[in-house]
Amino acid sequence: MVEAAAHRVQPQPLSLWLQPRTTCEVDPAMRLCSNFHMPADLCQFGNILEIWGDPDAVQASLADLTYEERLCCAHGWPLRSTGFCYTHQRQCAYNAGCHVRVQGPPCPDYSAAGLRRGASGPTFPTMLAAGAKSRLTRSALVVLENVCGLPEEVVADAFGPDYTLSSFAQSPSDVGFDCVARPRKFFAITDVAATETLYDLRTLLEEVQSKLKREPPLSLRTLLCASPDEVREDVYHLSWCRSHLKRVPLPDRANLQPVALLNGQEATRLTDYVMAWRDGAGHKCQWEDLVCHLGDAPATGWCTWSSASGKLPTIRRSSGIYWHVSANRQILLKELYGSMGFCTFAGCAAAAGVAPFRVFHPGLSHRQLAQALGNSQHVANIGVFTVCALACAGLKDDRSNRE
Ligand SMILES: [Zn+2]
Repeated sequence: MVEAAAHRVQPQPLSLWLQPRTTCEVDPAMRLCSNFHMPADLCQFGNILEIWGDPDAVQASLADLTYEERLCCAHGWPLRSTGFCYTHQRQCAYNAGCHVRVQGPPCPDYSAAGLRRGASGPTFPTMLAAGAKSRLTRSALVVLENVCGLPEEVVADAFGPDYTLSSFAQSPSDVGFDCVARPRKFFAITDVAATETLYDLRTLLEEVQSKLKREPPLSLRTLLCASPDEVREDVYHLSWCRSHLKRVPLPDRANLQPVALLNGQEATRLTDYVMAWRDGAGHKCQWEDLVCHLGDAPATGWCTWSSASGKLPTIRRSSGIYWHVSANRQILLKELYGSMGFCTFAGCAAAAGVAPFRVFHPGLSHRQLAQALGNSQHVANIGVFTVCALACAGLKDDRSNRE
């Protein structure tokens, strides 16, 4: 998801009512995915570049320009006040009177996967558009998440002088998810004219994080909390995405064993991982916490496993099967969502006081649902960060009743 904007903030810190009003997502399957979890009347916009007109034309215009020239365009081009809304099937206003905006512009240009092309990469214009939309809608507080390599100056340039920002590196382990690797940089970006600082954000974050510290840390094996029925459910859904299983008759799919999910190449990779474990030393996790990503091949020197950090490797947009070796099964989608802070299990949801988060939905494949998770921000990270940022930023005048 590129961004989601929320409507209204009570003026008192930590006394909040957040109602999602708009989202912006370019991928139709990902839009469908968010449909299942968002209010029915929420406006769903598509490509964020539409703020300047036709997205292909925008990309083409920016393609061969220097960084400075791209900035000049982003700040100089007139902005459209409406975009095509997939919910209402018409042009809807971008400005829904939201005070708070949460954004996650595509980050590959600042990651190793995107060859660190940075401001010359193909997704960089979406960062500029994220800044342009916040200027257009005068969002008082923007919370932006990205990979750790994204420089603060780039975000400052995209948002312009009306905004001030601070950034913080945060990992799931900072908010109680010790066994998950997903380091990210979070930015609190505030409208200089509309907001005032009530408290130092870094101090508050450190205070909150110290309260969330687990002792002893949560081990990876605790993610495996599914029942045998839930294992069967996941194997069934995943089997439809496996080409070597495409001839398996429908009644038999419900009874497949997890190992049947692995094709020949993955079975070989699993053996290679186990051999590498046996022959190696200095593993950062115990055997019972060993998880191997079967989308990578140890034989070519590419080991993505929990042995490296003691944590579940970062879930990617296009990831393969995460195999728990001693349980001899995949980590279920429901467990992967749980690792990212979604309350997928009843006990978790009851503790959080929310309805359980449903993972499987009609019309979406296991692969698409896994991709949505790879795109996702860690719920606990973004939740803690946003609450702290909201508590530290006050509105100079109360604009909460302006709609
Ligand atoms: Zn709409």
